[in-house]
Amino acid sequence: MLEQKAPQDLQAIIDGIYQELTPRLGEGKVADYIPQLARVDARHFGMTVVTTGGEVYRVGDAEVPFSIQSISKVITLTLALGKHGENIWHRVGREPSGSPFNSIVQLEHEGGKPRNPFINAGAITISDLILAGHTPRELIGEIVRFVRYLADDETIVIDHEVARSETATGFRNVALANFMRSFGRLDHPVEHVLGVYFHHCALAMTCSQLAKAGLFLAAGGTNPLTGHSVVSRQRARRINALMLTCGHYDGSGDFAYRVGLPGKSGVGGGILAVAPGKASVAVWSPGLNEYGNSLLGSLALEMLAARTGWSVFGP
Ligand code: GLN
Repeated sequence: MLEQKAPQDLQAIIDGIYQELTPRLGEGKVADYIPQLARVDARHFGMTVVTTGGEVYRVGDAEVPFSIQSISKVITLTLALGKHGENIWHRVGREPSGSPFNSIVQLEHEGGKPRNPFINAGAITISDLILAGHTPRELIGEIVRFVRYLADDETIVIDHEVARSETATGFRNVALANFMRSFGRLDHPVEHVLGVYFHHCALAMTCSQLAKAGLFLAAGGTNPLTGHSVVSRQRARRINALMLTCGHYDGSGDFAYRVGLPGKSGVGGGILAVAPGKASVAVWSPGLNEYGNSLLGSLALEMLAARTGWSVFGP
């Protein structure tokens, strides 16, 4: 007879992780190139695990909203695939960049076609793609409605202070967008495209909202909590593949090696990780490592993966 594995006590596992990381809270460097993000207390730490069976486990500041920043690129990629299907790959690649998230160097060699949808240039291209047929205001509204639908939570909003702060200081992104425009690779005015980009990056969500929003990726494209079918199974797998290979920029290999799960980070210090068939996990700790990914967030996910045995690379 096959031995039945004892059910895991996920609450005890995440409580243990929180306890072990408590002495280290505040480590890493909070992003300060967006002034509004620099104001966040580096000692925050939250984590939520939502299983495909619908159980929710949380610890620390799991119900405190934070700026999801680049994690929103998973949401806009999903929207873009829904609107344009596989045609998006004419405009953006799907290879890891090996470069920082805001790098411009590859763009010149590659004729203004960004390596993947998760680096800034790629996400700006995705904003341009989904703008077709909309005003920026309409599209921003659609993105907010989509994320509320994914998380089944009508309270999710954009933090307009953060959006304003990045609009005032996002010179690098302005440069990236203009550079792509010079290659004839944007269909809409740079200000419209960046307006969309800065606003979706400024979505404010809690770990619990984020983990619920990402659950469809762990469950073959359908959110088991709501029954909403978001994408096909194949598309969920493919989004996960992109998160694994590109979700942490030039730190993607290291994250795959240490954690072994698809993940997407943001400079607000959040990470959404997907354990296919098992759970969606969101973690938040604002201090970043040298790649701009949450230092303790990555560590917490590494501990969680080790303790649960969750990995896309084998049992
Ligand atoms: N809005 C941020 C930027 O464009 C997103 C970057 C990130 O989260 N890595 O710089």
